[in-house]
Amino acid sequence: MRQSALFTRTLKQAPSDEVSLNSRLLIRGGFIEKTMAGVYNFLPLGLRVLNKIENIVREEMDAAGGQEVYMSALSPVQLWETTGRAEEIDVLFEARGANEASRKKNDNRYILNSTHEELFTPLLQKYVSGYRELPALVYQIQTKFRNEPRARSGLLRGREFRMKDLYSFHRDQEDMYRCYEEMKDAYQKVFERLEVGRDTYISLASGGDFTTDYSHEFQTACENGEDTIFSDTETGECYNEEVAPARVPDENKEEEEFSMEKVHTPDIRTIEGITEFLGVPVSKTVKTLLYEDEDGQVIVALIRGDREVNEEKLFRAVNFRSLRLCAPERVKEVTGAEHGYSGPLGLGEQVEMYVDDSLEGAKNMVVGANETDHHYKNVNWGTDLALPERFCDIKAAEEGDISPASGKEYKVFRASEVGNIFPLNTKFTDSFQYFYDNEDGEKKKVYMASYGMGPTRLMGVLAEKFSDEKGLMWPVSVAPFQVHLLQLPSVSNSQVADQAEEVYTKLKENGVEVLYDDRDDTQAGEKFADADLIGCPYRVVVSERTMKEEKVEIKKREEKEGKMVDFQALMNSLK
Ligand code: ATP
Ligand code: MG
Repeated sequence: MRQSALFTRTLKQAPSDEVSLNSRLLIRGGFIEKTMAGVYNFLPLGLRVLNKIENIVREEMDAAGGQEVYMSALSPVQLWETTGRAEEIDVLFEARGANEASRKKNDNRYILNSTHEELFTPLLQKYVSGYRELPALVYQIQTKFRNEPRARSGLLRGREFRMKDLYSFHRDQEDMYRCYEEMKDAYQKVFERLEVGRDTYISLASGGDFTTDYSHEFQTACENGEDTIFSDTETGECYNEEVAPARVPDENKEEEEFSMEKVHTPDIRTIEGITEFLGVPVSKTVKTLLYEDEDGQVIVALIRGDREVNEEKLFRAVNFRSLRLCAPERVKEVTGAEHGYSGPLGLGEQVEMYVDDSLEGAKNMVVGANETDHHYKNVNWGTDLALPERFCDIKAAEEGDISPASGKEYKVFRASEVGNIFPLNTKFTDSFQYFYDNEDGEKKKVYMASYGMGPTRLMGVLAEKFSDEKGLMWPVSVAPFQVHLLQLPSVSNSQVADQAEEVYTKLKENGVEVLYDDRDDTQAGEKFADADLIGCPYRVVVSERTMKEEKVEIKKREEKEGKMVDFQALMNSLK
């Protein structure tokens, strides 16, 4: 393609309201343009990159047995009511007539799909009902809509973005998991082809509202990624921070136990307040948090004062249907004290306690006294407070924590979730009453799994990872063009242009994708800067200097110096 024909151009500076590295680079390079926060337009160069990413994804999904379809982006609310997700998904968008005239014609509300379980399940139900037709793997690459609260990470978090979503349907759980494992390999192949294979880690994550099982995320290490990964380098297991099992680093707990004492602590309700007031280290304090389920049954969570509770972990430990922090009035009802003075002593047998292992072996603890304006100090396990049957892990993992599996400190890094796969079991097929007939003509439950991947997020991740201070450095597999050919202007030698045209033609004839900077009103310095910014893997220059030697200059984007080669050698190095 001739650069003179490209209607877009590069920018010297990114717009000041654009804060993420990927979107700043991509906007400057003329790949994308912003409609509004989290919503971008893909320009000719950007669309080429996106299409290449999506084609790689498509090839690997086809190879894994997926059949591609293209589903509607709009759907009736009733479908989402069938699964209960109309009220559950907190980023769901709806669409309806924008003005009175439109609403007069049709006043229905529609969902702008954020994911497609609600459409694929009934689709398959319509066509696939016999055991011979299972398993079935169906996918699409499509635009999704989500009302993301923060959309400041460019392509990493769009309110409108591209997703590849595959859904697999099976006769039983065993076959579902067989496919699940195969799909992990298919995903890794995609990431390898995008040159992020070695930097992409399968991490255990929450199964969401789908299941109490873990789901598996594909997390690509990336400084500006929005997730934090805890990696046990000994076992090789990685966890999203939201589910990482964690132990606090061991401390020396040899210390004399003192006698428990009630202390007057007027108006002191916070951990900082109590440590200051009593002059104790924060590790001696205990947070007592009351939670209740939807029927009002209360449980208590205890954790060391300097740590936070991870509600996901607590939820798993408690095994209630739902769990929420008690409001101050409810706390008062249960403890008899105002909010800020809760403690584990004297709460009665019926309140179950979940004690984080950060408090195991703790001595001379400070706890709320369940009496407004009072705390106890020097509380000790066994003497003042019955040892729990077992300590549990309900803490939010933090850097420096120990992996319980290996006893080693976690390696912690930032990453971006480029894919996520879920064993859904029968969650959706139950909602739609989707059964199949087995060999004996009996109705059996259909098992299902879903597999998401984000091509636009991937494009953002590649821009973040493959770039330097001058601009982008695309991997060959997704670069908008393999070669950026520059014709450098020359006053004294008009043959430079002819020679460049010839190289352009020959490269194209040989199947090389070339962006040809044929602009005759642009200075060499600007052309070089553009080539660095746009980031094609190879830069080829035809100039007065190269003409003298009857050669061209070729340079890899990541190299400092180019080398002079003749045309044949150029072709060879491109191959
Ligand atoms: P996140 O936790 O980052 O919000 P998610 O877990 O809600 O993502 P999934 O429902 O698992 O996302 O979606 C499947 C894939 O789609 C993700 O792994 C990611 O690659 C991509 N994706 C999800 N949300 C976005 C978004 N807002 N912008 C761009 N890509 C996204
Ligand atoms: Mg996810």
